[in-house]
Amino acid sequence: MSPSHSQKRTYKVNILGAGVSGLSTALALLEKKNYSVKIFATHLPSEFSIDYTSPWAGAHWRSYADIADLAQQELDTATFNRFAHLADTDPEAGVMYLTGHDFWDVKPKNFEDPWFKRIVKNYRYLSQEELPPGVEFGIAYTTVSVHAPKYLKYLQEQILARGGTIDRLTVPSLKSLAQIPHSSSSASGKPDIIVNCSGLGSRNLPGVHDHQMFPTRGQIVIVKVPESLWPKAKQFTMERYAEGSAMGTGTITYIIPRDNGEIVLGGTMQHWNYQEEASEETTKEILKRAVATKPDLFSNATVLRSCVGLRPNRRGGVRVSAAVEQVDWNEGWGDSKVVVVAHNYGHAGFGYQASVGCADKVVEQIEGCLKELDSVRAASRTMAKL
Ligand SMILES: Cc1cc2nc3c(=O)[nH]c(=O)nc-3n(C[C@H](O)[C@H](O)[C@H](O)COP(=O)(O)OP(=O)(O)OC[C@H]3O[C@@H](n4cnc5c(N)ncnc54)[C@H](O)[C@@H]3O)c2cc1C
Repeated sequence: MSPSHSQKRTYKVNILGAGVSGLSTALALLEKKNYSVKIFATHLPSEFSIDYTSPWAGAHWRSYADIADLAQQELDTATFNRFAHLADTDPEAGVMYLTGHDFWDVKPKNFEDPWFKRIVKNYRYLSQEELPPGVEFGIAYTTVSVHAPKYLKYLQEQILARGGTIDRLTVPSLKSLAQIPHSSSSASGKPDIIVNCSGLGSRNLPGVHDHQMFPTRGQIVIVKVPESLWPKAKQFTMERYAEGSAMGTGTITYIIPRDNGEIVLGGTMQHWNYQEEASEETTKEILKRAVATKPDLFSNATVLRSCVGLRPNRRGGVRVSAAVEQVDWNEGWGDSKVVVVAHNYGHAGFGYQASVGCADKVVEQIEGCLKELDSVRAASRTMAKL
């Protein structure tokens, strides 16, 4: 695909989903300048629902990419660089620097430094005096936290400022996304490209029905600490790993401050669990683990609320793809259109930390399809004239 080719015309894009994946994809397209972008979603920024994962995230940047997984490292690096830029330049984005701590109750045998040592600043091993009771080994490094609901609103504003639109609409199937016009003027207003960013919705969406998708329930507790402790608390984010597990199973202990004075305490990782209500018992356990790890900060914390979100997990990993397809919305009765069908969903617990990288990747894949899209359409116009 030569750049000159994609600059020739403006392509109309319909995106399904206004979570961090849909919004990041929209922004990446609008930054290219030759796309007109419309987002359609049931749930929009500023709202909270069990069917909308993005507002519930911590979120901080801590990559789990394996040392050999260069593709995931690329996605996480692109996102880290964007977040660092936002932390440096734009307080409205809700992204701030702080010191990340990884604590291991038992030092892993043959510990290897994580790959991201080469991109973060101030990476070091913690001294014995810096480790909480019950922790054998730890590392520290400079990272960022993202105030998730604030960041979603920020993305929304960036999209609207660049001419994109975001409308509330529940879309009954993938093919119906290809029917929503960009203008009221007949078929010519129909999109050239559709992008599915429906998160866990991809499991039941007709035309996708991705049965590799499943929920991983996360309960969190949001607290405030006494004002005198906030200057210290806002510098500190951490994950603590129990023996034998990098990520923790069932439970995961983490602490993530947000730029508005709230602190997110985690959490749970419960596969296939859809339970919407927060469990009081789990809230107590989460608090207990935070106090055990940082008694100086959390012994007198005030609980604001307990919340539950469902991570859009996917066996086989995230789906980021694009292909030219004939979308037939009238069961073979000739009412069809050739479009680029793209997907960006299934980010499990890393939807924020890979968001920019995944958005860039899906845009790259879309651009790789444009030449084929144009030639297939030109060929069908020629056929129609004969
Ligand atoms: C407790 C918790 C903590 C987390 N912590 C972190 C963290 O620290 N770091 C990190 O990177 N990630 C974290 N995550 C994961 C992250 O939140 C998700 O990976 C991410 O939010 C997924 O975003 P998404 O846009 O793909 O999906 P969603 O946010 O669920 O968005 C899906 C969108 O699609 C729309 N939709 C779906 N179906 C339809 C339909 N048929 N018609 C119209 N609209 C539809 C929805 O309304 C919504 O707008 C955490 C998640 C949880 C629950």
